[in-house]
Amino acid sequence: KKITIAIDGFSSTGKSTIAKLLAKKYNYIYVDTGAMYRAVTYFGMKSKLVNKDGFKSESLILKLKDIKLTFKFNKILGFAEMFLNNINVEKEIRTLQVSQQVSKVAAIPEVRRKLVAEQQLMGVNGGIVMDGRDIGTVVFPDADLKLFMTASADKRATRRYKELIDNGDNVNFEEVLFNVQERDRIDSTREDSPLMKAEDAIEFDNSDMGIDEQFERICTLVDS
Ligand code: C5P
Repeated sequence: KKITIAIDGFSSTGKSTIAKLLAKKYNYIYVDTGAMYRAVTYFGMKSKLVNKDGFKSESLILKLKDIKLTFKFNKILGFAEMFLNNINVEKEIRTLQVSQQVSKVAAIPEVRRKLVAEQQLMGVNGGIVMDGRDIGTVVFPDADLKLFMTASADKRATRRYKELIDNGDNVNFEEVLFNVQERDRIDSTREDSPLMKAEDAIEFDNSDMGIDEQFERICTLVDS
């Protein structure tokens, strides 16, 4: 039976790494919901509706109907890339600038309503692994398997810092650490569906656990 797997947790806890491995092993669809919130944010920044001093949420809400989000599988990379109105924005949405605005945009109820509805549609047939902040609580409250990932802020910032540097982004560690903590704060205190562990989610702290060991334990859960 093809099941539904929900992976939630704080920023940079290795959710997407685990999700990609699971999708590959079980031949499931993988959906990175963070990429969708990032793409809406990137759209807002490009349209000058979102910037570091604040944002015009009314105008962004009116523009939501013009935002078409699609995932297209890239065979070489082995996962789906994010397309915004038919343009590949996979690289653009991963910058620190987008990370610094995304949690504010993700707190807009109209934005969440649109993205949650699209995510639920993607999951109608099962055989899906989705990662985000509200998958086990809001998007798929009946998911067959729910995981909740945590790790120390320092470990997470180190991971994200390395990713950004590899992506060619010129950042310093302190601003990355600040961003990881700030996003967690906004994500877990927003009124609408705050980031939290679903009651029936299984928690994984990977501060000191390698990805291989963790993946093995999670596969045992999927197979059982
Ligand atoms: O997963 P990622 O770190 O790329 O997510 C970026 C941001 O998108 C999060 O910090 C959060 O503000 C928002 N997000 C969300 N709900 C989700 C996934 C991401 O609010 N399901």
